[in-house]
Amino acid sequence: MKMAIVGGTGYVGLCTAVGFAAKGHEVFCVGRDKNKIEGLKKGHVPIYEPGVAEWLKRNAGSGNFVPTDSIEQAVKNSDVTFICVGTPSKKDGGIELKDVREVSRNIGGILNKIGRYHVVIVKSTVVPGTTEGTVIPELEKCSGKAAGRDFGVAMNPEFLREGKALEDFLNPDRIVIGELDKKSGDAVASLYDKFTAPIVRTDLKTAEMTKYASNAFLATKISFINEIGNMCKILGIDVYDVSAGIGLDKRIGPKFLDAGIGYGGSCFPKDVAAIIAKAKGIGYEPRLLESVENVNRGQRKRAFDLLKKRLGSLGGKKVAILGLSFKPDTDDIREAPSIDIIRMLLEEGAVVSAYDPQASGNMKAVYPDAEYAEDIASALRNADACLLLTEWDEFRRLDESDFSGMRGRLIIEGRRVLRKESFKGFSVEGICW
Ligand code: NAD
Repeated sequence: MKMAIVGGTGYVGLCTAVGFAAKGHEVFCVGRDKNKIEGLKKGHVPIYEPGVAEWLKRNAGSGNFVPTDSIEQAVKNSDVTFICVGTPSKKDGGIELKDVREVSRNIGGILNKIGRYHVVIVKSTVVPGTTEGTVIPELEKCSGKAAGRDFGVAMNPEFLREGKALEDFLNPDRIVIGELDKKSGDAVASLYDKFTAPIVRTDLKTAEMTKYASNAFLATKISFINEIGNMCKILGIDVYDVSAGIGLDKRIGPKFLDAGIGYGGSCFPKDVAAIIAKAKGIGYEPRLLESVENVNRGQRKRAFDLLKKRLGSLGGKKVAILGLSFKPDTDDIREAPSIDIIRMLLEEGAVVSAYDPQASGNMKAVYPDAEYAEDIASALRNADACLLLTEWDEFRRLDESDFSGMRGRLIIEGRRVLRKESFKGFSVEGICW
């Protein structure tokens, strides 16, 4: 099928575009940034996602992946259009729908000019009621046509993880299709006919809620184990042994039980905040989810307080930070724990020397005054302490000798990656262990 992917230079849009192209669909990858689109035409990927650049290189010129800044050309020549633009947090925790609205209006205007049936699919994460209350009204107003009669509408949430985005897109656990009517849903289901995952078909707002429920549950699991971990640290219990013990219970499962610095990224913090704001908007007090947020925020402060307790005053001390991205295999620093921690360190007058395999450039834009090292050894040189915040593979291989250039002997881990027993001359401590 021919499809337009709007928001095609972002994480979800680009992986959706490349993923569907890899499955044999003809894809227009629509972005508004001309430079990024020109770059994509030459195989330059605007984000770091394993597999994407390699696929583009292998398939350059194949004709079924067409980067363009013309939404009109893309929609006019397609059967379906995916909306994959960002839905960032507003100050009150709700989601900013500016881009979703603008794109819906643009698509509506183009639908007005095309005669044949077309399905508009919302893939951006939007709170329950958004497709019906915002997207459809804009499409109808700008097209002069009726949803369900003249064109189709569906909501197809995305569950991919950054860092494994393309792999996840191509091998999902399930595909959720919220449909305005059967014809719209059938069209979306047919796009996935080469996927093996089970398909769950629902109405629009159930699909929207399924995405939030999924992320809120995973965030809850992380805050749960962090709360248990905080208690374990005081009690002298290894929380990772506790995780192993509970994770083998099939009803619980082993994933998302790694206690530590807590969750970050562009999804969990934003989605938990958005569903809390939505709940309050409908007169419901979401006490569990508010606690999930509080515990998560608290882990960052706990890391900072632990460092301060061990080092004393931070003024003038050099603190090396290994890992800036919110998780490995991505350059994404949105809502990363490192942002709050660097802010607290700089406010206390510490000198921050950071290293990350991919994310230093992004962090430099936030904190130009921190130092950014080219390699681990340079970041650690003369540091009074080290905070390890992201579980990049290259950190797992480190041993005591790699830290020998430090002035101090304190390492605090936000993620458990170091083999503590091999660090004889150092004090290696975790937030929850
Ligand atoms: P992103 O910020 O990386 O990408 C959004 C893209 O949309 C940007 O490249 C932006 O330039 C583009 N855009 C905005 N307005 C546009 C317009 N008018 N025309 C063309 N392009 C336009 O965001 P993302 O991380 O890809 O997330 C997109 C949506 O998917 C969000 O709702 C997010 O919550 C959801 N989501 C994200 C992930 C994830 O892991 N990143 C996973 C699942 C769902």
